[in-house]
Amino acid sequence: MSVSGLPPYDPQNIFARILRGEIPCKRVHEDEFALAFHDINPLTPTHVLVIPKGEYVSAADFHGSADDAAIAGFWRAVGKVARDLGLEGSGYRILSNMGPDGGQEVPHFHVHLFGGRRLGRMMP
Ligand code: 5GP
Repeated sequence: MSVSGLPPYDPQNIFARILRGEIPCKRVHEDEFALAFHDINPLTPTHVLVIPKGEYVSAADFHGSADDAAIAGFWRAVGKVARDLGLEGSGYRILSNMGPDGGQEVPHFHVHLFGGRRLGRMMP
């Protein structure tokens, strides 16, 4: 069981394979804490995924078990990616799906970074 109550981390999940370089991605940024790459099925003009390098199933798992340096490093990377993509002036949205009710498909914690156009209001 992960911290969030979801099934344990699956090292064969697609983002784990991207992290290991087994599957290609359109990389935007990489540092010791995070990898950012374009979503394969973009929903907005800019749609980037940012994932931590450790094995975390979900947001709850990441924030509950990663050390402070890993958490800070990850969120700094998210900010840097938004800045580097030129989204800071116009704005953007960060979103993380968690578990079945949250609609999470890939069981490796990730945030979506959406931008490049005026987004609609968030609806459940
Ligand atoms: P989730 O629903 O888990 O929050 O979002 C998973 C996201 O990963 C989806 O937006 C989907 O398009 C994206 N995705 C799934 N497989 C791949 C892949 O192999 N490469 C990339 N770049 N994105 C993927």
